[in-house]
Formats: sequence, C-alpha cells, structure tokens
Amino acid sequence: MAKQLEQNQSHRRSVLRALLWLTFVFGLIFAGLNSYRGMYLLAGLEVAYAFFALSLQRVVPTTRHLVAWTVAYLVLFFCMMVFALLLPKTSFTVFAWIQTIPIISYLLLGQRGGLWMSLIFVTAAVIAFNVRYMTGENSMDALIATNLAFSSFAVMLFSHIYERSRTSNEARLIELAGTDNLTGIANRMRLGEEFLRLRSQAERSGMALSLVVVDLDMFKRVNDQYGHDIGDQALQHAAHLLSGRLRGSDLACRLGGEEFAVLLLGADHHQAASLADQLRQQLATTPLQLADGTALQMSFSGGVATLNDDGADLSALLKVADKRMYDAKSGGRNRIVAATSSFPEAAPAAD
Ligand code: GH3
Ligand code: MG
Ligand code: MG
Repeated sequence: MAKQLEQNQSHRRSVLRALLWLTFVFGLIFAGLNSYRGMYLLAGLEVAYAFFALSLQRVVPTTRHLVAWTVAYLVLFFCMMVFALLLPKTSFTVFAWIQTIPIISYLLLGQRGGLWMSLIFVTAAVIAFNVRYMTGENSMDALIATNLAFSSFAVMLFSHIYERSRTSNEARLIELAGTDNLTGIANRMRLGEEFLRLRSQAERSGMALSLVVVDLDMFKRVNDQYGHDIGDQALQHAAHLLSGRLRGSDLACRLGGEEFAVLLLGADHHQAASLADQLRQQLATTPLQLADGTALQMSFSGGVATLNDDGADLSALLKVADKRMYDAKSGGRNRIVAATSSFPEAAPAAD
C-alpha cells in the first residue's frame, strides 16, 4: 500500500511542478501588464510569487513535506486571486481564475484537503466579488452574482464527486492487485509490501518477525484423483484454514500453485515453528468435505525463517524457509522444519 501511496504522491508532484511553471510564467506576464496599468502593489506581489513558485521547483521533487508545501503554495495563490478581485482597477474576469480553485485543490490535495481549500476560497471569492462589484445599481447584479456563485460551487461539487470515485476505484484496484483471485488471500506482491511494513514495525518495536513457507503435500494426486475443480476447492480450503487462525498483524499469502507463506509479527523462531505446527495439525485434522460425502484429507510441509537470524530481506528469508520446507518434504512430509528443531518432535526413545 505504501508503494501505491508513494506513486500517488509522485503523480501529485508532477501536477504541482506543471502548475509551478505556469504560475512562474503567468505571474511575470501579469506583473508586466499590471505595472503598465500602474498597479504596482499587485505587480510586486505577482513577481514575488512567481519567484517563490520557481524556487519551489527545487523543493517539490524530493521533499517529504509535499502536503505542507502544497498548502503554502495554494493558500498564497488563492489569497492573491481574492486580493486581485478586490482591487479597484482589476476586471471581474479575474473570477475566471477562481473557478480553477476546486480543480487545482482536489488534484493536489485529494478529497478532504480539496473540500476545505475550495470551500474557504470559493466562498471568500464570492463574498469579495459581491463587495467589489455588486453596487445595487444594475438590475442584473443578482443574476450575475448567482451565476458566478452557483457555477463555482457546481465545479466544486463535480470535483468532489470525481475525486471520491477516483480514490475508491484506486483503493479497489490496489486491493485487487494484492489479492490472489482463487483463494481471496494476499498474493506475492502484497507479501513484498507487507514484509517491508512489518519489518520496520519490528525494528522500531524490537519485536521478532518470522516467515513460514508451506507447500501442500502430494497435491498433484488431488488433481489427478478428483479433478482440477476440486483441486481449486482444496486450495481455497487450505487458504481459509491458514488465514483463519492468524492475528490481525499477521499475513497469510499464496505464493503460487499450492505454495503459501505466513508472516508472523511478534513470533520468534520457536514460537513461529510451534504456530506453524498448530496450523499443520489443523489442516491434517480438518478434511475438505466434498458434495458426495468424501472427506478429502490434506497435509502440508513447512519451513521457518526468522528476520536477522536467517536474513535481513524477504528473498533471503524465502530462500531459507524454502530450503527447510524441502527438508520437511524429504523428512517424510506433513512436518515443520525450523533451524534446530522439527515438528512433530521425535518421541523420546523408550528405555
Ligand atoms: P510435493 O509433496 O512434493 O509437494 O508434491 P506435489 O504433488 O504437491 O508437488 P508438485 O509440484 O508435483 O505438484 C503441484 C501440483 O499443484 C501440480 C499442479 O497441478 C497443482 N496446482 C498448482 N496450482 C494449481 C491451481 O491453481 N489449481 C489446482 N487445482 N491445482 C494446482
Ligand atoms: Mg506440493
Ligand atoms: Mg509446490
């Protein structure tokens, strides 16, 4: 998810950079026009703002405080628009710029920021317009003011509806991209992202983080004996059992085929192996009930790896856990292999 948010930020960085260039160029052009007409205060503000926009070009690509910079830029920008509207020698056509406020705000700040920014500045601009132009001498006054106010709030409403459906579609796409479509649990892509998130959480809090790789035993036989559709149901059954017992901070995912992984935050190596063994026992003792009454028995073999003891990144942990999972296969299947132990533990030798 973090990666998607970062992409979202990079999209906003490009929009903001384009706007900064426009502000720089237009700011200087308007400053020229306004100083020609003797409006030196406004022209001075426009030159200052144009160079502020230019200097932000260096900040925007890398800053970690993009929202704060965007708010600073927009507040100044919109204040200048409202100020220009109030000045005696300006034209009411300045209002055309006011109508860009909701679009720019929603594009750069999203739903909540866009709503507040548009509400505040569109309202301020409508009031400023009334103060400046509505003298009561023109019979069209009320109509002009109503037209401008309504069209501005309509643009704001459309921008809000658009941004709301865009963010919910984006969230849905992100969810789908990280979900395995057969079993409904996380897929390998989500595992990569969740690993990064849980690893930083583990490093901050000093908690352990373990990974268990499991592979269903003799699964080819299930397909051969019952057909591919029942094989699919068996995979769903295994995924349901694997994910059902985990805590909210843990993650079960399908790596591909009949191979799954479980990420366990707060579980050291021994605890992870013991939990994996409970899952193993649960699958071995919970057969899938087929429509014809057959109980389809399954088992898996698993390998455990723990952050730092077995590696510092996901690919290292997967490699170690995978190797131990194959040790479990060669040790007879339906087993869990950890660094120095395996489950079920060997029964003590009889005297
Ligand atoms: P082992 O205990 O050594 O892991 O034996 P296995 O039979 O599980 O291993 P193998 O790799 O030979 O076979 C895996 C099987 O999993 C083969 C493939 O048809 C089946 N499989 C992989 N993905 C799917 C799927 O999405 N649906 C179904 N029904 N079967 C799948
Ligand atoms: Mg298998
Ligand atoms: Mg396999």
